[in-house]
Amino acid sequence: MHFIVITGGVISGIGKGTITSSLGYILKERDFKVTIVKIDPYLNYDAGTMNPYQHGEVFVLGDGGEVDLDLGNYERFLDRDLASENNITTGKIYKKVIERERKGDYLGSTVQIIPHITDEIKRHIRRVGENSNADIVLVEVGGVVGDIESMPFLEALRQLKLEEDGKVFFIHVTYVPMLHSLGEPKTKPTQHSVRELRSIGIQPDAIVARSEISLDDEVKRKIALFTQVDEKAVIGVPDVSDIFTMPIYLNDSTLPSYILEKVSLPNRNNSLNKWKAIVNNIVNPKENVEIAVVGKYVDLKDSYISHEHAFMHVTGKTGIGVKIRWVNSETEMDNYEKLRGVNGILIPGGFGARGIEGKIKAIKYARENKIPVLGICLGFQLEVVEFARNVLHLEGANSTEFNPDTKFPVIDLLPEQMGIKEMGGTMRLGDKKVIIKKGTKTFNLYQKEEILERHRHRYEVNPKFIKDFEDSGLKFSATDEEGIRMEILELDKHPFFMGSQFHAEFRSRPERPSVLHGALVEASLQYKKISEKN
Ligand code: GLN
Repeated sequence: MHFIVITGGVISGIGKGTITSSLGYILKERDFKVTIVKIDPYLNYDAGTMNPYQHGEVFVLGDGGEVDLDLGNYERFLDRDLASENNITTGKIYKKVIERERKGDYLGSTVQIIPHITDEIKRHIRRVGENSNADIVLVEVGGVVGDIESMPFLEALRQLKLEEDGKVFFIHVTYVPMLHSLGEPKTKPTQHSVRELRSIGIQPDAIVARSEISLDDEVKRKIALFTQVDEKAVIGVPDVSDIFTMPIYLNDSTLPSYILEKVSLPNRNNSLNKWKAIVNNIVNPKENVEIAVVGKYVDLKDSYISHEHAFMHVTGKTGIGVKIRWVNSETEMDNYEKLRGVNGILIPGGFGARGIEGKIKAIKYARENKIPVLGICLGFQLEVVEFARNVLHLEGANSTEFNPDTKFPVIDLLPEQMGIKEMGGTMRLGDKKVIIKKGTKTFNLYQKEEILERHRHRYEVNPKFIKDFEDSGLKFSATDEEGIRMEILELDKHPFFMGSQFHAEFRSRPERPSVLHGALVEASLQYKKISEKN
């Protein structure tokens, strides 16, 4: 097993995750079994209870792990399902060590960061590699070097290099700012950050220098000299238009072959033609649609990153480009102005009452004007609420999440869920089978009776109302295995009014785009063509 460790310097938010995922993809295409571990040095056990405003979307894995959104990128790029253990947090490590201490595993010794915490970190990383049978384990360390929280992790990784001689490679991703007044890229912050890394005993083997523009050889030479890194291993990465071009850029650089040579692995070049075809569609779409995403976290767009990717996957496959119009459900839905002219609408998931009335209005607008609409998770639940209020005339119908006293609790907890008080890890999470009814529009789309999809929710369609809905044309075309939980809805007499309780965006992959996102895009294109004719 080999390890490639990716650390960050100078500032965060410069695309370390994209570089890690891209490298993973490149190595996978060179026929290695690759897995990626993300280290998030915060104290939370997992990302499940975190607000998207701070960390962007919470991604959900097949085993139900609620993790950092980088894991979503890893899965999409590697086209491989990862597990909760692929995301390490300080909380997870400390919890494990304290559990061991209570059990008496360390009997007699004083439990300390070195060696007990660091040993646990190394054990965890190695275990992930073994469990996934990996040739290469990429380890991305969140944050930047110098953060207090990341110290034990960096120390553990330093030890790993010592223990796995010749099999560990360190990449430091830094930022080289442009001083526009001088027209000059400045390397000093990079020098400092490498010095910081070396002061804790880590000498990087390669530097990936992110900058606005391409760095010329002289700048790279300077970085190499001051950081004691081989010139061939200093890679300048300018801003790229979208993250899908990153694998191509890095694949053409000297980095992959340099790494493989250093860790003595065979280098099987691959020109990434499959990927290039996808990227070509993304960069030059044949047609375009505009889809409104109506949500309360639209101001921080990483909150819906998996939806953006799902749409890009559709574009990569079909050549239909998707322009997203972000609409704030809380502040921009007083009237329908913001929705004028869109070809389709997506209502994403969410928690809490804020912004739900705006989403319900958007759904009403789409239903009445026959605009294609897809609701995901909370979006699906609100489609049910909207239909109950405005078609079944159940006044004040709601989800009990928002109004526990509603007369018409069309979305509610199931009896067995009542009484659960804890917020962390108590939802219906992860991959679950979804059974599709034959003879439905849904079946036409999937051409399958059984699919596997990711979940993250507490509330369900209330079984008491199902017959009323179906009698009025809102059909539940898919359920869980027991037939108790409603999973997909479709509306008669509407070109495309669908919703899913599951998060179709989470299992979307470049080569296998989400079927529902794909169907929304197709329907939006039809809608656009018809409205252009009129
Ligand atoms: N808040 C809703 C529930 O818990 C929907 C969750 C979501 O959209 N992820 O069921």
